[in-house]
Amino acid sequence: MNISADTQVLIAGAGPVGLTLALDLGRRGIRCTVIERNATSLQLPKMERCNARTMEIYRRLGIVDQVRSAGLDNDAPMDVYLTESLHGPVIVHLPYPSVNAAKAEIAARNDGYVLEPYQLISQYTLEPLLRSIVEGLPNVTVRFSCELVEFEQDGDGVTARVRPSGGADETIRATYLVGCDGGSSTVRKQLGIRLQGEGRIRRLRQALFYCPELYDKIPIGTGRHYHIAEPPLFPFIIIQDSKKHWTLHASAESDEQMAVIFRESLGMPLEFTMLSVNEWTQNLLCAERYGEGRIFIAGDAAHLVIPTGGLGMNTGVGDAIDLSWKLAATLRGWGGAELLASYEKERRPIGLRNVKASGEAARGRFEGWRIATTREEMASRFDVEQRKVTEILGIEAGYRYVDSPIVCGEPGGPDPDSQGYIPTSWPGARLPHFWLADRTALHDKLGLGYTLLRVGPGRHDTSTLEAAFKATGAPLDALDVPQLQARELYEHDLLLIRPDLHVVWRANRPPDDPGAIAGIATGQYSTSFITGRR
Ligand SMILES: Cc1cc2nc3c(=O)[nH]c(=O)nc-3n(C[C@H](O)[C@H](O)[C@H](O)COP(=O)(O)OP(=O)(O)OC[C@H]3O[C@@H](n4cnc5c(N)ncnc54)[C@H](O)[C@@H]3O)c2cc1C
Repeated sequence: MNISADTQVLIAGAGPVGLTLALDLGRRGIRCTVIERNATSLQLPKMERCNARTMEIYRRLGIVDQVRSAGLDNDAPMDVYLTESLHGPVIVHLPYPSVNAAKAEIAARNDGYVLEPYQLISQYTLEPLLRSIVEGLPNVTVRFSCELVEFEQDGDGVTARVRPSGGADETIRATYLVGCDGGSSTVRKQLGIRLQGEGRIRRLRQALFYCPELYDKIPIGTGRHYHIAEPPLFPFIIIQDSKKHWTLHASAESDEQMAVIFRESLGMPLEFTMLSVNEWTQNLLCAERYGEGRIFIAGDAAHLVIPTGGLGMNTGVGDAIDLSWKLAATLRGWGGAELLASYEKERRPIGLRNVKASGEAARGRFEGWRIATTREEMASRFDVEQRKVTEILGIEAGYRYVDSPIVCGEPGGPDPDSQGYIPTSWPGARLPHFWLADRTALHDKLGLGYTLLRVGPGRHDTSTLEAAFKATGAPLDALDVPQLQARELYEHDLLLIRPDLHVVWRANRPPDDPGAIAGIATGQYSTSFITGRR
């Protein structure tokens, strides 16, 4: 058996989550290897909407413009319809702004709203794009046609047996292994981690159509989702990023029936080609643990949602960005034992919360408006239920790491599970976006390490906290944000921000025990240890 070169982090799976993790680790200077059992990136349609938080993350990773230019035209509206066919009559029309309109709104406000709007991009476009970016990083190796077969860990690392297609098995030695290997994760299964919740809820067929004339001919208006009010199947049609490809979802009896349903749903004679049909299963599941020792799971390996609400890949991207800086910090030597332990403590509650939110969004479709007995009732129910799918910015960007061991938590705070987004600097929350006086975004000023924000006109000597950080070995920059408006938004003079932009600590004066704050933030002390010490 060949012994391959060592790597710091071995990532199993080159789906969107594994590639995002590799991208962030790569820019942090960590050597990693991504192995993918398939020969090519995904070819079939799956996810199509990166949410606002994912787009903020892609902005931080420096790829937001590439994602937007590969995705749906930024002037295209994102409206949702309940209609009898794409020819009408329309029962409910919910308008949602194009990316450019949403960006104009973001530019005009400075109240802590998100920095980036959503982006429609088909997963079959996003994955090759991420792959090409990751392949350009000098410290990341990407190997397709290479399957993770088995692994074992010891005190110093993980030894993985991998199988290149057509070649002999090899061994890769890594300090850490992350399973981003999807719903049937080899890593999760071999660790004996069970999925909890509801599995195999229902099966649907999805077909991909090429219908180049459709977009310009829809008389009811262009949008993103068209729910067809046609019992008993109630199919729905989703635009893909080219505006020439469309997916249809329905519980059809056969592949052929999908073409019939598509033709009927159009409500007008148009030429089209059915390119593919595949079946997919709806699940609401979350792993009981997110890893063991030097091995972690992320993305669909850790949670499976019903895609209604778009909380699948987007939740996985959140996992990747939580885990990457913790891995990098531990490998660099300043990350304490609590840092990697906090990955499960922070992300599993978000996994459970997002599984629940996607279940509620899907229930509205299957048990809400579809069972209405009149068109009027269907319209009023749709108007309520569909908003649980398309108006959940609070779920997407408002998550907070409550009870995290590496956050100086405060009791109370706004509801972290609110459907609507409530900007807050409560410890554990993502720092709300703020436009600085020169119109740059504060998020863009925050580097790869920690940032101590000194907000508003007050002047504080923060040298003891800076010295305490220096003693931990963790990178910390101090940044003054003198604007009063920022002080009003963040409600505190001093805020300590993590590398992933979540708030660790906030106060109106420097801490009495700066070593404790630095120790908690870097995972070098546990919060329980500190509480006991005080
Ligand atoms: C119809 C549909 C619509 C969706 N819409 C949305 C949406 O709008 N928004 C959203 O956020 N999510 C959506 N999702 C969910 C989204 O597609 C998934 O959450 C996403 O693909 C998860 O990414 P991942 O990288 O964790 O896993 P995957 O995309 O499953 O990638 C895992 C990779 O690991 C590889 N692999 C598996 N085992 C091994 C092994 N042993 N060795 C090496 N490689 C291995 C696989 O080949 C695969 O490439 C949708 C899903 C479906 C089915």
